[in-house]
Amino acid sequence: MAKQIQAIRGMNDCLPSDTPAWQKVEQVVRDTVAAYGYSEIRMPVVESTDLFKRSIGEVTDIVEKEMYTFEDRNGDSLTLRPEGTASCVRAGNQHGLLYNQEQRLWYMGPMFRHERPQKGRYRQFHQIGVESFGVASADMDAEVIMLSARFWKAFGLEKHVTLQLNTLGSNACRAAYRDALIAHLEAHKDSLDEDAKRRMYTNPLRVLDSKNPEVQACLVDAPKLDDYLSEESQAHFARLREILDAVGIEYEINPRLVRGLDYYNHTVFEWVTESLGAQGTVCAGGRYDGLVEQLGGKPTPGVGFAMGMERLVLLLETLELLGELPEPADVYVISAGSGTLSAAFALAEQLRDSMPKLRVMTHCGGGNFKKQFKRADKSGARIALIIGEDELANQQVTVKYLRGQNEQQTIAQQELPTLLTQQLED
Ligand code: ATP
Ligand code: MG
Repeated sequence: MAKQIQAIRGMNDCLPSDTPAWQKVEQVVRDTVAAYGYSEIRMPVVESTDLFKRSIGEVTDIVEKEMYTFEDRNGDSLTLRPEGTASCVRAGNQHGLLYNQEQRLWYMGPMFRHERPQKGRYRQFHQIGVESFGVASADMDAEVIMLSARFWKAFGLEKHVTLQLNTLGSNACRAAYRDALIAHLEAHKDSLDEDAKRRMYTNPLRVLDSKNPEVQACLVDAPKLDDYLSEESQAHFARLREILDAVGIEYEINPRLVRGLDYYNHTVFEWVTESLGAQGTVCAGGRYDGLVEQLGGKPTPGVGFAMGMERLVLLLETLELLGELPEPADVYVISAGSGTLSAAFALAEQLRDSMPKLRVMTHCGGGNFKKQFKRADKSGARIALIIGEDELANQQVTVKYLRGQNEQQTIAQQELPTLLTQQLED
């Protein structure tokens, strides 16, 4: 036998048994973003490597270690997108969507990062992204957070996620804080690990995010960003909290929350859960007022978030919140006897004409009733329709209920749509 080829590690198939859950999540997402007037944008999965280096930042986990970067046949350096914000801004700039306009955009699709695969962490994963451009005030930070909160409401997850909130202040505040932080880190250099030492000068805020307990220990008495916030930055954050309080969205202020990407300023936030183990962040975002300009556009404020779909689906499965998921077929058509197969096909086509939402499967490949019923059962259909020679002669059909207690009945074919509508309604 020829050797089977396997999928790439960390890149998963979504099997027919998995897709109903994904489809349900996708539908809720579409409904939710529509409820806020957001428009869908679809970007390519491959971009110039420079796009991500310039936006996410050279000294970040993503750019340093996680990107799938390759040369194409022209010798150009391309990268499978590790996230969507940079591509979205690139597209917005390229097509003149951003300057002097308000744009509320969303997208959904695969992202690629070369990380160590484990539960909730994959090399191809999927994000739902929401990006809002053109409004600098905290009203818009509040709107996108409200939108994210509505996802949890729609899924029944409100009690299982908490909102962590922080502000990084304006770029000027950050610069002042940066100097103070570097001075502190220099004084504790011996307790820092290699990553922290390397980042100390290039991206010191990232050191705050370190998962190493020794590094965390020497951060306890580090200067606090809070003390370096300008009045304007404080006002931005205060306004956001005021709106969140007014609409009843609870949050925890987490001064250590800095996010792994360089482009954030002012608001940053994460929704975290305790139900997924180590991979507990299901949604993360913030404001990125400098990004559009950094990528060659005219200055345009922006704020957004990305939600990890695998983690969301895992969470819903773990908490058994997906409810009943649809089977592929509602009705399975069986036939046996001379001339009955074409009658069965014709009946199935008529049903599809008159009931466009009905999912009808016709038995193919022959076999006795017993075998056909087995298939009908396996299809998940609630009803089997049987065309035997008697039914064919009398323009009738026998209706057998595969779930529940209803008695089998034989009726005129033309009565079928009414009966099916009644039976499948609930
Ligand atoms: P983490 O700290 O878990 O590595 P991150 O800060 O790198 O997350 P973001 O870049 O903010 O993640 O991406 C937003 C969301 O996308 C995350 O909160 C998470 O839900 C999801 N996500 C990120 N990386 C992965 C991955 N490798 N596999 C599955 N989901 C992921
Ligand atoms: Mg990461």
